[in-house]
Amino acid sequence: MRTQLEEIRSKAKEELLKCQSLNELNDLRVYYLGKKGALTQVLRGMGQLSAEERPIIGQLANEIRDEINTILNQQGAKLKKAEQEEKLLGETIDVTLPGKSFAQGSKHPITLVLEEAKQIFIGLGFEIAEGPDIETDYYNFEALNLPKNHPARDMQDSFYITSEVLLRTHTSPVQVRTMEKMAPKTPVKIICPGKVYRRDDDATHSPMFHQIEGLVIDKGIKMSDLKGVLLAFAQQMFGPKQKVRLRPSFFPFTEPSAEVDISCVMCEGEGCRVCSQTGWLEILGSGMVHPNVLRYGGYNPEEVTGFAFGMGVERIAMLKYGINDLRLMYENDLRFLRQF
Ligand SMILES: [Zn+2]
Repeated sequence: MRTQLEEIRSKAKEELLKCQSLNELNDLRVYYLGKKGALTQVLRGMGQLSAEERPIIGQLANEIRDEINTILNQQGAKLKKAEQEEKLLGETIDVTLPGKSFAQGSKHPITLVLEEAKQIFIGLGFEIAEGPDIETDYYNFEALNLPKNHPARDMQDSFYITSEVLLRTHTSPVQVRTMEKMAPKTPVKIICPGKVYRRDDDATHSPMFHQIEGLVIDKGIKMSDLKGVLLAFAQQMFGPKQKVRLRPSFFPFTEPSAEVDISCVMCEGEGCRVCSQTGWLEILGSGMVHPNVLRYGGYNPEEVTGFAFGMGVERIAMLKYGINDLRLMYENDLRFLRQF
């Protein structure tokens, strides 16, 4: 029996130390120490031993079990560590590999000009007002002193949804809506940026384009206030040397009305092809708010006066960035867009 036990001891030691994986180790544990294991099998024969031999063999068996257990634990820890290291090695991240680059967009020139214009006017004390793109005839025309059948409506031929509902042809309806909300309180000092729609389509006109309109109403507002605001805008948008020039014009919603020119951004007033040798570029329309428009908005033209102006954002962007065809702005050509 002692020989059997010694055999188990040496065989177990040898096999355990050769063992290469945790699974294999577990099989060996069952084989030697399990309920039906080799050691248990031998100890079953203890009954046949003499009373003197029994404790000696029992002690030996315990020693062997402890020894096998110790080796099992040591081997287990070693194999576990090795397996972990192998796993880590397989999952190693190579931090020197170049990262995945992703394309970063840039702001559209129209967005850039809109944002800059808003900042300039906010700096001049204006608030931003917005309104719906789909308007009623009343807000788009009538309340702006453009009654039905007024010939000036032809200048803004539009997209009608019904005979009374259309895509707004200018952002002026926002002026009317703001006056209705505010009247008779003053001052009103707003800009209305947004999309507008007209049935034009060529190198300088698009059926959808952007406008910024401005409206100021208060006691004692004069045309010189209008010129001052526009000069401040032109100098901040195009440079401190800018001059502005007002030329008499006609709009149904203002009286008197004026077209506003800035000094040519290409030749600084010397005269060139862009400005047709005049040194001036037309950038917006403006005037003193017509008394009828003030009345429609809920104001008494005997008590308050105001001025209004409107400009095309595309036109400003074309002049500011030297873009020669408006349609480039809507083609989504990356070679164009990447320049801003
Ligand atoms: Zn010029």
